[in-house]
Amino acid sequence: MTTLARATLAAAPDPAPTPDLESTNCYLCGSDSARPFIGAEDDLTGKPGRFSFVSCDECTLVYQQPRIPLSGIKAYYDDDYIAHRRHSDWGIMRRFFERSMDRLDASKEDIVARYVPLGSSRRLLDVGCGAGTFAARLRRRHGVEAVGLDFKELSDLPSFADVEFRCGLLYDHDFGEERFDLITMWHFLEHDYDPARSLRTSRELLTRDGRLVVEVPRLDSVTFTMYGNRWPGLQAPQHTALYSRQTLISMVERAGLEVLEYLPYGAFPAYFYLFTGAAFRLLKGRGLNLKRAIIPYAIGQALLSPLLVFERRLNLAMQTIVCRRAT
Ligand SMILES: [Zn+2]
Repeated sequence: MTTLARATLAAAPDPAPTPDLESTNCYLCGSDSARPFIGAEDDLTGKPGRFSFVSCDECTLVYQQPRIPLSGIKAYYDDDYIAHRRHSDWGIMRRFFERSMDRLDASKEDIVARYVPLGSSRRLLDVGCGAGTFAARLRRRHGVEAVGLDFKELSDLPSFADVEFRCGLLYDHDFGEERFDLITMWHFLEHDYDPARSLRTSRELLTRDGRLVVEVPRLDSVTFTMYGNRWPGLQAPQHTALYSRQTLISMVERAGLEVLEYLPYGAFPAYFYLFTGAAFRLLKGRGLNLKRAIIPYAIGQALLSPLLVFERRLNLAMQTIVCRRAT
């Protein structure tokens, strides 16, 4: 073998190693007795690997078992991860993406404004804040004192010029005497490696009249029935648990929170699940090129707009729960 051939071989990257997996008990009741529920692939990015969700024999919570250890999951939240994207990454589709993100943040604002009077004396903690645009919106429009927390270092993103960014896990963070009038978890809890602990921590961080708003995909929904193992809400391997209405309510109540309202919809558009579920079925684990999908996405959205007017009544994909400290 020539020196050049040896050098070329040495430089060739190894195939992606299969991540080591670890076992976990049920996040809701702690039981280790569970039965197989569904298998999933990384349909969004097309990265290799097959992942399994089980259903707890005691409380029926569906969770990923085994799972990638926390130390290994960060690699799955790389710069392509949708919630962490910079607007400039989208090229000619930048305006479409920006409008969609603005609409999403406006929907979140609509929901929280029903439960918390927003103003400059109010403090917000957005857990799993991603690019921070929602927190920046409440800061800009209402003068809310906003803190965004994420386990990825994202402080160089533009939103964090006006929003305080903190990096780390919620329950590892020392908040001292700080309290918040509003804590939001938009599509965070289903990623969490210890959701019960995060909810208990949130409870401690709420003011006496404070509100916690949690949005997650809804397992007992129309799109799960339609798409099964290609349901976008599986989002393996990032989603650690999949919540039905009943298991979400149980989870917050066990953490010492009282449910004020349960909404069978979210700020996040259910249409995203209708579209990507159909795409995942066609692609069979090959990964979705979001830039290329944007035009068919927009056309489908226009065609389905008469149906989507009734989105909040159709139990398509999302759920939101509004809580306060139980007395
Ligand atoms: Zn359980």
